[in-house]
Amino acid sequence: MAKGFFVDKIIVLIGAPGAGKGTQARLLDERRGIPQISTGDMFREMKTLDTPLAREVQEIMASGKLVSDEVTYRVVRERTAREDCRGTYVLDGYPRTAVQAEQLEELAREQGKEIRAIEVDVPRDELLKRLTGRRSCPVCGEIYNIYSRPPKNDGRCDLHPDAELLHRADDNEESVMTRLDTYAANTEPLIAYYAASGRLSKVDGTGEVEAIYSAISDLI
Ligand code: AMP
Repeated sequence: MAKGFFVDKIIVLIGAPGAGKGTQARLLDERRGIPQISTGDMFREMKTLDTPLAREVQEIMASGKLVSDEVTYRVVRERTAREDCRGTYVLDGYPRTAVQAEQLEELAREQGKEIRAIEVDVPRDELLKRLTGRRSCPVCGEIYNIYSRPPKNDGRCDLHPDAELLHRADDNEESVMTRLDTYAANTEPLIAYYAASGRLSKVDGTGEVEAIYSAISDLI
């Protein structure tokens, strides 16, 4: 591994579902050209495939549970082997379990990169509101919230008025509860794991999107 001034990084955004990881990762991608690698988005894209694996993934996602570590690792490995991930990239929604964190250590070694984790912290009652109110544009991915950031026209993207906003299948109250519990049981412990090795920073995820973006961007 090159021991230059600069070692490329794998930025891990850790935060509960609804903490705003996707919004922030998308901004880093748009403004700084740092690729956003979202396992959730990749699994959702599998919907168009009619294979046994795609059907299985869909079912797991709809329930709010986690896809297996093996399948998830394979998807991340293949995606980050592409040309655009040769430098620093952002992982949004990965790792989510201790096994995945181990697998990522291996991947980082192979790719000659350092892992840096950033926790985006939002209290649970706020997350519930954010998730059940969340809507997104199927064309540009812009995220709205019927409570806190409604579109100008009901159910329509401001930039793509022909596109009807989507309500994710797993943003219903029951799946949201399961996803928050799964986060607390499996993913939250990773915060201590990265802190113990001095690789964790924390940002407050409750303020304005721009302020949170500045805080995250400054850390990278
Ligand atoms: P997200 O969009 O990140 O909230 O992910 C949506 C769903 O995709 C999750 O509830 C899981 O079912 C699945 N998923 C996304 N990332 C992972 C991961 N790292 N490990 C296992 N399942 C995942």
